[in-house]
Amino acid sequence: DDVLRLEGIEKVYNKGAVSQVRVLRGADLSLARGEAVAMIAPSGAGKSTLLHIAGLLDTADAGRVLLGGQDMTALSDRRRTAARRARIGFVYQFHHLLPEFTALENIILPQLADGVRRGPAAKRARMLLETVGIAHRADHRPSAMSGGEQQRTALCRALANAPDLLLADEPTGNLDPETSDTVFAALMRLVRETGLSALIATHNLELAARMDRTLRLSQGRVE
Ligand code: ADP
Ligand code: ADP
Repeated sequence: DDVLRLEGIEKVYNKGAVSQVRVLRGADLSLARGEAVAMIAPSGAGKSTLLHIAGLLDTADAGRVLLGGQDMTALSDRRRTAARRARIGFVYQFHHLLPEFTALENIILPQLADGVRRGPAAKRARMLLETVGIAHRADHRPSAMSGGEQQRTALCRALANAPDLLLADEPTGNLDPETSDTVFAALMRLVRETGLSALIATHNLELAARMDRTLRLSQGRVE
């Protein structure tokens, strides 16, 4: 089964008002296990909206979201939240790490919230930091790390609870080209080593070319 499937997703903001906008108009996509897929779209095309709907943070006006073949559309809010926490990791343009905690703690905390004990949580956090090449930054707070190190920490945090789907909204959008490259390489390493599937919105065509596939979001549909 596909890790993620979107079928006929429609989304309208400000319905009925003069400011109404139809952002998604029957968007379909599917993501197989272990696949890294780029989503390219101009600003305002609806990337964030699509990622929020795929990530169960927002609901569509029509269409279905399936995770691992299971239809999420009909679930209660509580079950959708549970599914999101168990199966999906998010990365954004800005890292949103907790400033008062170290890199390691930032990756441990979501696991504790999920009922994992501290020992195993710390072990996984170290393994993730190692995979992205910043094990030596484990005890640093975000403010003591470079932008690329912060973003790699955010990637690790997104994968703390071992989701099978990563949704990334311009994860390198705030970084210089060289740092983008490092963060992207770390992301691809996580994908390849963990069997993760990733849907990555980016403006960077060079990075997109290094993924398995590129989708374009245009006129509210995925091409
Ligand atoms: P992108 O991520 O591709 O830049 P978004 O999904 O953020 O696009 O937004 C797509 C369009 O929908 C934009 O015109 C944006 O202004 C509008 N939009 C996004 N979120 C909302 C919202 N909560 N309420 C009203 N309009 C919104
Ligand atoms: P990004 O730059 O990461 O795509 P945005 O600035 O588009 O983020 O959106 C940030 C948040 O604000 C999102 O949750 C989005 O739904 C909301 N948003 C975006 N555009 C509008 C809008 N025109 N009206 C209300 N909310 C919006």
